[in-house]
Amino acid sequence: MKAIKFALGVLSLSVVCASVWAQNVKITPLGSHPGELCDRDRATIFEDPTGVRILYDAGQTVMGGNDPRLGTVHAVLLSHAHGDHMGDRKIAALNMGACDKPETISAAPHSTTAEIAAAKNSALVMIASTSAFLAKKVENIRGKPTGACAMDGITIAAVQAAPCVASLHMGGTRIIKAAGAERGVEITSVFASHDSRVSRDLLTEAQQKSVAPDNLNVSLDPPTGYVVKFTNGLRVYMSGDTGVHSEMQTIIRGLHKPNLVLMNLGLAATLPEAAAFAINELVRPNAVIVSHVNEAATSGGVLRPNTYTKAFIDQVKGRPVFLAISGRILEFDGSATCMAGGC
Ligand SMILES: [Zn+2]
Ligand SMILES: [Zn+2]
Repeated sequence: MKAIKFALGVLSLSVVCASVWAQNVKITPLGSHPGELCDRDRATIFEDPTGVRILYDAGQTVMGGNDPRLGTVHAVLLSHAHGDHMGDRKIAALNMGACDKPETISAAPHSTTAEIAAAKNSALVMIASTSAFLAKKVENIRGKPTGACAMDGITIAAVQAAPCVASLHMGGTRIIKAAGAERGVEITSVFASHDSRVSRDLLTEAQQKSVAPDNLNVSLDPPTGYVVKFTNGLRVYMSGDTGVHSEMQTIIRGLHKPNLVLMNLGLAATLPEAAAFAINELVRPNAVIVSHVNEAATSGGVLRPNTYTKAFIDQVKGRPVFLAISGRILEFDGSATCMAGGC
């Protein structure tokens, strides 16, 4: 009898735990080297408790549409067109080359973003010029036009029969909703201080010939960040590549109130001191994930000394900073408390 009671106790405890865990958002970085945070790593999968799965900035550290780590991808977000985000190159396999210089192969003419959207029937939720450019690439892959996603107001069903375009303008919002769910995941584009040139490798030959003599580029401005509001209350600001700007305080913190920031480092745009200022003084979230570090930030999964990433972490005060370790699933509750995966 005691054994049965104990078993029932364990069962009810596990049911309670499962329902608590089910309220977490799962965040999985997809980098070049599992267990590390490496130079080119940007790609991140977000999974809402309702099952909606979002890929943010596919970049160069995925194997294209066939990468077994991707799983279902309902929506693809892209902050800007730079090759390290749109994915002008890709990895052929995991652990190729060194963490500070991963080996990649060309993803031209399509890009990893287009390959994945085509393979997964994803909605392209991004600024209009960028989604139009990628829609054409998806069309080239599939041999069929890429239409607009069917929308009910600003809401798109998570599961689509074909890849589709759900473009927005700066400040615009789209909602991705799972069938039967009460609420959807709300995606808003926000300002980023950067540019959005396309890698020339991804242009048609005619376009390459037209811009190369003057050393010009084709730009798909404006670049953006995103604020994504998940159904458990987690509100994630994905900075994109950006210098520090005042909208981090006025619009992003003031209006959207993110409690978690996925912060891009990168010396061309943001020194560690500036990135830490953005966190400490402007956005002031409960927690931070650091990615886009442009260096081998870890060795054996441990933060390396004398890195810009460590300098950033050392300057962030009063809140935890988590490394975007490839393949490690971080789980956050609605208030951005880390519940599993390296807390
Ligand atoms: Zn960039
Ligand atoms: Zn970048």
